[in-house]
Amino acid sequence: MAYEKHWANNDKINATEKQKLKMDGLEIFQKIPEYARSGFASIPKEEWPMFKWAGLYLQRPREEGYFMMRVCIPSGILNYDQVVTLAGIARDYGRGIYDITTRQAVQFHWLRIEDIPDIFERLKRVGLSTAGACGDITRNIVGNPLAGIDPDELLDTTPIVREVYETFQHNPDFSNLPRKYKVSISANQKNASNAEINCVAFTPAVKTIDGEEVKGFHVKVGGGLSSRPYLAETLDLFIRPEEVKKVTVAITTIFRDYGYREKRTRNRLKFLIADWGPERFKEKVLEYTGPLPTKGTDMLTDWNAGYFYGVHPQKQEGLNYIGLNVPMGRLTADEVLELARVSNKYGNGEIRNCSSQNLVIPHVPDDQVETLLQEEIFKRISVDPPKFIGYAVSCTGIEYCNLALVETKERMRKIAEFLDKQVEVDVPVRIHMVGCPNSCGQRQIADIGLQGIKMKSKETKELVDAFEIHVGGTLKQGGEFNRKLKGKIDSQHLPAVLKQFLLHFKEQKQPEESFHSF
Ligand code: SF4
Repeated sequence: MAYEKHWANNDKINATEKQKLKMDGLEIFQKIPEYARSGFASIPKEEWPMFKWAGLYLQRPREEGYFMMRVCIPSGILNYDQVVTLAGIARDYGRGIYDITTRQAVQFHWLRIEDIPDIFERLKRVGLSTAGACGDITRNIVGNPLAGIDPDELLDTTPIVREVYETFQHNPDFSNLPRKYKVSISANQKNASNAEINCVAFTPAVKTIDGEEVKGFHVKVGGGLSSRPYLAETLDLFIRPEEVKKVTVAITTIFRDYGYREKRTRNRLKFLIADWGPERFKEKVLEYTGPLPTKGTDMLTDWNAGYFYGVHPQKQEGLNYIGLNVPMGRLTADEVLELARVSNKYGNGEIRNCSSQNLVIPHVPDDQVETLLQEEIFKRISVDPPKFIGYAVSCTGIEYCNLALVETKERMRKIAEFLDKQVEVDVPVRIHMVGCPNSCGQRQIADIGLQGIKMKSKETKELVDAFEIHVGGTLKQGGEFNRKLKGKIDSQHLPAVLKQFLLHFKEQKQPEESFHSF
């Protein structure tokens, strides 16, 4: 039975909500083949935003009719056929550009509407989809990129993530949420999936029930970044692995039916949680799920920010996973094909995307590691990157994004390379650059967050690219967002300012002291 869209009677709902009542986002999938035949000019402008439900945004400038496409990759885990398919799409349709996002997805650029049916067909053949990658819907489910191989995981979350992903894929009961909705399911004890910045996050926990220790999850709700960031709060519940789907459906139903639909800037789940508080929200969840145990013991021990550089033993004896750096998360199609070849030759062909925009190649036997590391590709995609390039993150920026105020990816790369030449530090310093307050590059959790703005140049009086600097973000010990330093810096002076700042850090810090504890 269809659920009641009670908000249809509220005349204060925003324009996007009104459009979603006229046309459900997932209906765009039925329309795309026709538009592919009739061309971009035949698409009514009011339907442009609905393409997000198919993982498609019009890239900047919209009128040229090129699309950015995001593909869902639950937990970031890809098999060989999937990697080769994605690389082929980038090569054949996307001018060779292959971007890894901070939610473990893959993005293409420069796609034309005529290309989309073939791309969908290729993705379908290998079990991939773009449904839910963008739009007011359950986004790519992030998780532990090491699921199933991780000595630091409480349990293997692969089947749970798959079950939840399939529950929400193309599901018309949940295709009209008040806003984007981000779920994380991970049992990695080092919080590899950045739990606290998700709308809903399942984190590892144990509880003794009827005299037996049960491995399961705690659940956090109401996290999110953008201009009003919130850290998710833990509900007083313990969730058994087989109950994750039921609890996710309950929380999503509450968000759908009670979430705000008026001002779009206040529609995320975090605002409902902030108003209700975790106790009232928990009581509502229990109305849908029935009784659940109260919290057990939290098993999150640390935060690794999704970084896994180097060679590490898997929980399977004799096998290793190799953590690699992808500068700014951007690869070429040829590089992806080469990584797939190497992974297939030495491992099982899998490649795993991390929330740090980097990669892991798993399942490499002990006696193959040294030979693998001699492969040419690892000169650029390094297992041991320099400190700044290795820990720099960037969003898409003005190159393709309509919301961006400034260029980011190339600028961040140049700054990181400059800093690696000028400042030698003994600990990583995580620098994240974003092109606007939406914070796809997660600047609030960076050691140094750089947020692009425009300002009038003191020298030329013209509008120029500039950056606010925010310092001290972390998700250790529950998390803390970084704080803004006074003023803003003309982008021309940004590398020199960062250099001075980091030299000061280097001179004043204790050996091995991290940026956050400084
Ligand atoms: Fe675009 Fe802003 Fe997101 Fe960067 S943070 S990709 S500029 S919306």
